Amino acid sequence: MTPPTIAQNLRQIHERIVRAAAKAGRNPAEVTLIGVSKTHPPDSIREAYAAGLRHFGENRVQEWEGKRAQLADLSSKITSHLIGHLQSNKVIRAAKSFDILDSIGDFSLAQRLHRAVAENSPGTKLPVLLEVHIGGEESKSGVAQDDLTQLAERILEFASLDLQGLMCIPPFTEDPEGARPHFALLRSLCEKLATHLHHPLPRLSIGMSHDFEIAIEEGSTEVRVGTALFGARPPL
Ligand SMILES: *Cc1c(COP(=O)(O)O)cnc(C)c1O
Repeated sequence: MTPPTIAQNLRQIHERIVRAAAKAGRNPAEVTLIGVSKTHPPDSIREAYAAGLRHFGENRVQEWEGKRAQLADLSSKITSHLIGHLQSNKVIRAAKSFDILDSIGDFSLAQRLHRAVAENSPGTKLPVLLEVHIGGEESKSGVAQDDLTQLAERILEFASLDLQGLMCIPPFTEDPEGARPHFALLRSLCEKLATHLHHPLPRLSIGMSHDFEIAIEEGSTEVRVGTALFGARPPL
């Protein structure tokens, strides 16, 4: 049997998004699909683009810089998301090569980013999401829940950053239902934070291949799907 094509996978994922949204009484157009193309070649991104996908997620600055150079004709037509840990020495390059940074988790990184954008593209605002550490020991990345409000308040003062929402990666559980309480918690943190800040936070980035339907039921506005779309990645 030949494996399904990216276009076939994309169609199936769209159907699943539509079903999950219907189950939750939501409009599927509220859910953006981010194709997580890390480790996959530029040609896979082209294939997904040709099939209609416009948002792509990568977790390494250097890897994306290389692919982006080969996709120059698409770069104004797609939205690229940094979804992984950002090293402080790659901040300037990340600000140049990504359209949105989905995984900001500490103040000094945000500050460096703000300065980089202010210097390289004065007058513009780079959209960012804060990654929140949810669900105990296994996941180490993201800002602690107790520190979220203060970090968000300080980021709002950076004129070069546009804080748009929250993301999290809950600990993996065999049963995707295990993620539901973590997703629900992030959503409630997001709503409370927006009220507290008097600043809209419309984006909630939750849900991966394994659990995106649960995430949509819990209010996800962007799901980050890699394996279900592009196939298995080589082991790290
Ligand atoms: C790799 C990755 C994904 C995609 O994971 P899949 O299980 O392959 O869908 C989503 N979000 C982040 C932050 C990732 O690093």
